[in-house]
Parts: sequence; structure tokens; C-alpha cells
Amino acid sequence: MADTIFSKIIRRDIPADIVYEDDLCLAFRDIAPQAPVHILVIPKKTIPKLTDTTSEDHALMGHLLLKVKQVAEEAGLDNGYRVVINTGEDGGQTVDHLHIHILGGRQMQWPPG
Ligand code: 5GP
Repeated sequence: MADTIFSKIIRRDIPADIVYEDDLCLAFRDIAPQAPVHILVIPKKTIPKLTDTTSEDHALMGHLLLKVKQVAEEAGLDNGYRVVINTGEDGGQTVDHLHIHILGGRQMQWPPG
């Protein structure tokens, strides 16, 4: 499976502003933030995209969402935030390692672009 920039961040081959880590996942600040708070939560397991998950990932996916909630709370996003998983080409995914965006600190708009 192709190595990605996020695999390099997990291995500490390249630096990132890491805000949370456990055995299953890592959360770090996006290098090009689209909101005052923009954090990515990623599994350490190499899963290219949401459509590659299987029933084996049931517990992992639940863990990631609960960590999204925890990281958002710790970032002070008590007035709400947006959670995004860009998936595949039409979804606008640019890094082929599953990641969950947490965007907050400003009023979000709908529909997204
Ligand atoms: P996608 O467009 O695939 O949903 O999101 C990929 C995100 O990764 C983008 O928001 C982009 O700014 C972020 N990103 C890409 N390369 C790096 C990097 O080297 N470090 C960090 N922290 N974020 C990155």
C-alpha cells in the first residue's frame, strides 16, 4: 500500500502539531487550516479511505468518532463544530489515508463547496 504524508507523521518522519495520540489514532493540526481550529484525526492503521473500511473496523471507527468528540472538547469548541470525511475523487480527498476533519471556531456555511 502506498506510503502517504500521514504515515510519515505517524512514524514521526515529518513533524506535525500533535494534539492527541493513543494506540489506535493520532490527532494533529492541519497544515493549511480552513477555520480557526482545524484538526485531523487519523487511524494508525493504514486505511486509504472510508470506502475501504470493513466490518473488522467497526470498533476502530467508533473509537475515532469518540476521539473526535474528545479532541473537539479539548480544543474548546463548545459552541459546535463541523466533522468532515472527504472520500475519493468526487469527495475532494487529497491524502489517501483515512482522516476526519474537525473544523471550528467560526460559523460554518451550508452547502459546502
Ligand atoms: P483532504 O483534502 O484529503 O480531505 O484533506 C487532507 C488535509 O491534509 C488537507 O486539509 C491538508 O491541508 C492536510 N495536509 C496535507 N499535508 C499535510 C501535512 O504535511 N501536515 C499536516 N498537518 N496537514 C497536511
